[in-house]
Amino acid sequence: MTKKPFGIYITLENSPVQPERFTGYHTGVDLEIFPGEENTEVSVKAVCAGKLIYRNYISGYGGVAGESCELNGQLIIVIYGHLKLDSIINKINDELKAGEKIGILGKSKSTETDSERKHLHLGFVKGEVMNLKGYVAIQAGLSDWIDPCEYVCGK
Ligand SMILES: [Zn+2]
Repeated sequence: MTKKPFGIYITLENSPVQPERFTGYHTGVDLEIFPGEENTEVSVKAVCAGKLIYRNYISGYGGVAGESCELNGQLIIVIYGHLKLDSIINKINDELKAGEKIGILGKSKSTETDSERKHLHLGFVKGEVMNLKGYVAIQAGLSDWIDPCEYVCGK
């Protein structure tokens, strides 16, 4: 289930999530929690086998993990946004298996999610250079990302 699919143009007025504080083309997909998961631990699992290359607290996301993966012969960085930073127990350069737990989602409207609702922002950045932009101002800017839903949604 996603409220904000890849590439959607979000404005403060049209956003499916209110109140909204971002504007631009969405560079990832937002995967929502299910009813009843608001106060439970929701695990986030690696969508591919790869190396943990990033683990930090970032404005707009809260906790973020970045994993380097190979997708159909192409190197990408998978961004997992709005995680509880402390729950990311792996260290940088640790090898993750596909399906391995990375951490848990941050609590809604807390510093863990930088005040966002509880959900996962999943982004696939092309190449090997970390890019944490959640939105880009022009549509052509989306060419630096891949729609994760081509690979992970509904699976
Ligand atoms: Zn998002």
